[in-house]
Amino acid sequence: MTSSPIKEDFLHYLWRIKKVPAALETTDGRAVEILEFGVYNLDSGPDFFNAKIKLEDTVWVGNIEMHVFTSDWKKHGHQHDKAYDNVILHVVYEDDQSDSVKIANEAIPTLALKAKIPKIYLDNYLTLVQSINDIPCKNMISSVPSDKINLWKYTLSIERLHNKSITVTEILKTTNYDWEETLYIMLARYFGAKVNIEPFEMLARSLPLSIINKNKDKRETLDALIFGQAGMLMANYEDDYFLSLKKEFHYQQKKYNIKPIDAVAWKFSKLRPMNFPTVRLAQFAGLLYRVTFLFSQIKETDDINEIKKMLYSQASPYWEDHYRFGTLSTASIAKQTSSDFIDILLINAVSPVLYTYGLINDEQKYIEKAIQILENTTGETNTITKLWKSLGVTTKTAFDTQALIHLKHNYCHEHKCLSCKIGHEIMGR
Ligand code: SF4
Repeated sequence: MTSSPIKEDFLHYLWRIKKVPAALETTDGRAVEILEFGVYNLDSGPDFFNAKIKLEDTVWVGNIEMHVFTSDWKKHGHQHDKAYDNVILHVVYEDDQSDSVKIANEAIPTLALKAKIPKIYLDNYLTLVQSINDIPCKNMISSVPSDKINLWKYTLSIERLHNKSITVTEILKTTNYDWEETLYIMLARYFGAKVNIEPFEMLARSLPLSIINKNKDKRETLDALIFGQAGMLMANYEDDYFLSLKKEFHYQQKKYNIKPIDAVAWKFSKLRPMNFPTVRLAQFAGLLYRVTFLFSQIKETDDINEIKKMLYSQASPYWEDHYRFGTLSTASIAKQTSSDFIDILLINAVSPVLYTYGLINDEQKYIEKAIQILENTTGETNTITKLWKSLGVTTKTAFDTQALIHLKHNYCHEHKCLSCKIGHEIMGR
């Protein structure tokens, strides 16, 4: 079986940037000149539409199909597919069969690029696709000017916001286009951070904001509703706070006919006590106690510091010396949300919901506000941002860090260097 380190996307890339000689020869020895390279097609069908070639003395207009090997034409079943009837040139990396491919018994001229690709492109391509580094261009990125990287970061950050808006829109549909409820669910998800994102979302979905709003004036009732619906009041502890929440939840559960989620969904292992779901749930209850119509308030204010203040929350006094129900802790516990944690909520919940609101309602000012929030929020420090920093790619704000996280996950990890502006800069150097 024939194989090659070259992938078809490399041929597409060279063709798109016109890095093949315009005057060439087909595998059966005919002169071919590329007059127009055609329009790149990302959908099904031939790879380039409306190309124009001169084959010996005749000009042909039609589509171009590309493969690594000539024999791939048959393997992909194009001989039976009418969408390929208008192919005028078959471009391959390597010609591995003696005869050309045929459409309705007519041979399609084949152009083999193996010996025609500029060496620098081939070498750089192979270095990138064969690299086993986390960042395949690790040893080459220093040659890319920082202004090019900064421009690319802008696109990436918007791409990331756009991706997040898909999740927001899915949630929005399930809330019957209720923006307050949608923000409530998004905030819940990020109170759960990575580990408890699912139980937090399940909790928020099982406890509608309308019930929260009806009980906003009673802090203990809110705590009871949150911990009760989280399934955490099913256990048996003797301390007064726990027993009081349990009693209150018993009453509220009957009143609203609500069913708690299963407490086994919550994960504690490998978390620092400060991030235990119990502590985060207590702070979540604190936020819900403090603010009403949060989305409307965020929408109305242009002061990002005001928005940060809105997201501040505090757990009930019980959590000053408890990380879990029933167990006293000697360590002092910060019961309020830290500014780092508020930044996480801004980056992952507030900004994406505002961005989606702007997109859906075609209101650019909310899209800009979503971007401004990221530009005025401190970026995350994590293994990914540290990795980029070690390569000389620095960040100032969350707008930058979000771009680099997106780049690592969606481009570097997938070896999509040919779709990356940094990769494009590297290829021809
Ligand atoms: S995707 Fe871009 S940044 Fe990532 S390794 Fe490839 S060229 Fe470098």
